[in-house]
Amino acid sequence: MSERIETDILVIGGGLAGLTLTARLAADGADVTCVEAGEAPSEENADRDQRTTATLMPGIGTLQRTGAWPAIEPDAQRLHGMRIVDCGGTDRTPRDETTFDAAEMGDDAFGWNIQNGPTRLALARHLATKDTARLLAGTRIEHWVAREDAVLATLSDGTRVKARLLVGADGRGSVVRERSGIGLRKWGYAQKAIAARVEHTRPHEGVSIEMHHVGGPLTFAPLPGNRSGLVWMNADAEADRLAALGDTAFLAELNARSHGLYGEITAAAPRALWPATTQVATGLTATRTVLVAEAAHAFPPIGAQGFNLSLRDVETLAGLVAEADDPGSEALLSAYARKRTPDILARTAGVDILNRSVRTELRPVRDIRRAGLSLLGTAPPLRRLAMRIGMGR
Ligand SMILES: Cc1cc2nc3c(=O)[nH]c(=O)nc-3n(C[C@H](O)[C@H](O)[C@H](O)COP(=O)(O)OP(=O)(O)OC[C@H]3O[C@@H](n4cnc5c(N)ncnc54)[C@H](O)[C@@H]3O)c2cc1C
Repeated sequence: MSERIETDILVIGGGLAGLTLTARLAADGADVTCVEAGEAPSEENADRDQRTTATLMPGIGTLQRTGAWPAIEPDAQRLHGMRIVDCGGTDRTPRDETTFDAAEMGDDAFGWNIQNGPTRLALARHLATKDTARLLAGTRIEHWVAREDAVLATLSDGTRVKARLLVGADGRGSVVRERSGIGLRKWGYAQKAIAARVEHTRPHEGVSIEMHHVGGPLTFAPLPGNRSGLVWMNADAEADRLAALGDTAFLAELNARSHGLYGEITAAAPRALWPATTQVATGLTATRTVLVAEAAHAFPPIGAQGFNLSLRDVETLAGLVAEADDPGSEALLSAYARKRTPDILARTAGVDILNRSVRTELRPVRDIRRAGLSLLGTAPPLRRLAMRIGMGR
C-alpha cells in the first residue's frame, strides 16, 4: 500500500534553494517534506555539480539559521575582497580595475564562496537528523489539487501527501509554476557560461576576480587552497568552441585570457556549459502555493546575485511562516508576493543591464562602463553605495 504523509509544507525540488528552505523551516519547528526528482545528495555525487556559489553575508545568515552551516563551512572560502578588471579594449588586456574590500564597510567579509555539491550534501545530512523534516529523493510530484483548506499531492512512487502549503523550488522548468497557471517571461543573450573548479599557482587571498571581456565576464571565486570556482561567459559559438577543447588547449586559452592574475592555472575540471537566460514568473503565488528561487526568477551568472536573491525568498517565507497559524493562508501568500516582487524585478533588471553592458562590442558603451569603474575606484561614498546594493542590503 502506498505511503500517506501529512505535513505542514511540501517543498518540490531539493536543489540548493529547496534544501536550504526545508532546513530553514525545520529549524523553526515546522513539519516539512522535500521532494527531489534526482538522486539524494551523497559522497559519490557531491562532485558532479561543478558550480560554486558566492554567497553574501545576509544569505550566509540564512544558511547559519538552518543549523547546517558548521558542516558547510569547511568546504567554503571566506570572501574578503572583490576585484573588477575592465578588459573591454580590442586587445582584451586589463585597462582599469578596482578592488572592493569588505573592511571598507566595516565588515570582516562580503560572504563565503560555497560549493554546490558539498553544500547540498551537508543540508541533506542535517535534515536526516530532524524528526519533523524529510527528504524524499528519486520521486517527483505527479499531480495535485490545491483546495481552499489543503493541497493533496501524489508522487510518482505512489506516495500521497497532504500539506497546507506547496512550495515550487523546482528550478527553471518548474512544473509547480506551469501547472498552477503562473506565466513566465523569458529571454536569452546567445551566450553560455563554462563552469569549472580551477587550480592555480598564486594564492587568491580570499579575493574574487571578475574580468569584463567583450562577449562576457571571466570570473574566479576563491575556494580553500589555491583553488577557485570559474565562470567564463562567452557568445554561444565561442563558448561551444572553448568547451570542446581538450584540457591542454582549454588551459592555454584560459591562461591567456586571465593574464596571469592567479599565476598559472594548472587544472580546470570538471567543466560544464550553462546557457545564459533570464526568466521571471509573472506571479509568485496561486492557491496554497508559492514559488521560490529559480522557479520564480533566474538570470545569467554575473555579479553573484542568483542564489543570493533566492535566499531572500527563503528568509522572507520562513519569517512569514513562523508568525502564521496557517502557512498556506491567503494573507501569508499576499504578504510574500508583496515583499518579494520589488526585489525580484529590480535584481532581474539590474543583472540584465549589467550583462548587456559587459558583453557588448559597442565601443561607447564599453568606454562608459570603464569610466564608471574608474569613478567607483575614486569616490568612497559611491563605492559604499555600490557595495550595499551588491550585498542586497
Ligand atoms: C555557472 C553558474 C554559476 C553561479 N554562480 C552563482 C553565484 O556565485 N552566486 C549566486 O548567488 N548564484 C549563482 N548562481 C545561481 C545558483 O547556482 C542557483 O540560483 C542555484 O543553484 C539554483 O538553485 P535552485 O535550487 O533554485 O534550482 P535547481 O538547482 O535547478 O534545483 C531544482 C531542483 O528541483 C528538482 N525538480 C525539478 N522538477 C521536479 C519535480 N517535478 N519534482 C521534484 N523535483 C523536481 C530538480 O531535480 C532540481 O534538483 C550560478 C548559476 C550558474 C549556472
